[in-house]
Amino acid sequence: MAWIVRLVSLGAEGEEHSTDVLQIAKPRDLTDLASVGLTLAEGKRLLAGVQQELVAAQARAHAVRRPECRSCGVACRVKDYRQHAIATLFGRVTVRLPRFRCADCGTIAAGTGWPPHARSTPELDRLGAQLSALLTYRTAAAVLAQMFPVDAGTAHETLRRHTFEVAEELPVPATVEPATPAEMITVTFDSTFIRSCEQGERHLEVRIGNVETTTGRRRVFGAMAKTGTDLAALIRGSLDAVGRTEGTALSAFTDGCPGLRRVLLDAGIAELPILDWFHLAMRLQHLTRVAGALPSDGPERAAAKAVIVREVERLRWRLWNGKARDAGISLDRIRAVVHHFRGEPDGRRSVAPSRKLWTALRALNGYLVGQSDRLVDYGERHRMGLRVGTALTEGTANFLVNRRMNKSQQMRWTRRGADRLLQVRCAVYNGTLGIGLGQRFQAANDPHPPATIAA
Ligand SMILES: [Zn+2]
Repeated sequence: MAWIVRLVSLGAEGEEHSTDVLQIAKPRDLTDLASVGLTLAEGKRLLAGVQQELVAAQARAHAVRRPECRSCGVACRVKDYRQHAIATLFGRVTVRLPRFRCADCGTIAAGTGWPPHARSTPELDRLGAQLSALLTYRTAAAVLAQMFPVDAGTAHETLRRHTFEVAEELPVPATVEPATPAEMITVTFDSTFIRSCEQGERHLEVRIGNVETTTGRRRVFGAMAKTGTDLAALIRGSLDAVGRTEGTALSAFTDGCPGLRRVLLDAGIAELPILDWFHLAMRLQHLTRVAGALPSDGPERAAAKAVIVREVERLRWRLWNGKARDAGISLDRIRAVVHHFRGEPDGRRSVAPSRKLWTALRALNGYLVGQSDRLVDYGERHRMGLRVGTALTEGTANFLVNRRMNKSQQMRWTRRGADRLLQVRCAVYNGTLGIGLGQRFQAANDPHPPATIAA
């Protein structure tokens, strides 16, 4: 059996004009499951066929237009014709468009509002950018070609170039409808690293963060360090987007890096950021693990190990409850007994546990020195239902950076390339990429809600 898909156009006076788009041959019955309805290939041919006909009709109507001259208002005459090949989501179309010249003053008009050198529709570019934000350029190009009758611009280099263009056209700050004023906004700001393919640099610093309100409104932002991207402006825009007003209480969390503090100051967050509990907890967890791995052969070592394990736990309690000033007591007590493990040889494949303990203690001490005024009573905040930090490193960073940019060891980035892609990923997350494509990624990305981090 055969079907013909026919496109019928209706003119202003009701006149009809029809074109056959596609002929489909199918078995009449449903004996074969694979022949139920349209196949992907037929669907693509159908869409491409409709697109060709639609655009051809639009081009015919366009060709008889005679725009008025911008300067003297006289109707223009056709100067010449130009061929334009445009990649669309439903195939490549070629149109012959007139250029116009004013008979009076000679002004030349294109007759379209297209950007110069346009070779693809904005929708195709945005979909390409959205897929590229989630997949490698190569995979994104393959997916696009698999699903849609896109027959031009599916090379991954093209996709990368268009993604950069989409990123560069993203508004800063992202335009938003005025949000309901927020009483309290928490800003979290962190840095992480990706591998560099630029000369003389092995890693590039990525700075990412998010703002969130107690009512669950959330925005992410990010930029590569040392690019032209104005991170402070992105933060200000994010704050406005979730409803910052003059009366909003702002609290910021960082891992203590002074560079991040400067950016926050530029963004208008004057108060000293709080040291993120998540970062602190990770270091304490490491210390706990190292202490637990100490040998307990002989009564002296067993007793010393018990002291160390207990003091690490106490240290954690002190830091959690805002008693950072007493952290030194725990550290001193550990140091007092650590000599019991001295002289222990390194294993064949591993460093001796006692040396690991020394290293971990020194690292924690170095981390806490000079940060005591940035430590708060996390326990009290937590009981009040306030943030003690966020799962940024685990959740947002994973989504924004790791899942796309650190996934494989082979992935290496240029500073500019990483920055552009990061802007698109933030826009995808925030739902600001563009019409119909702003699928928000729900907080399912965040495997550690704040409460479980604290615990
Ligand atoms: Zn004119």
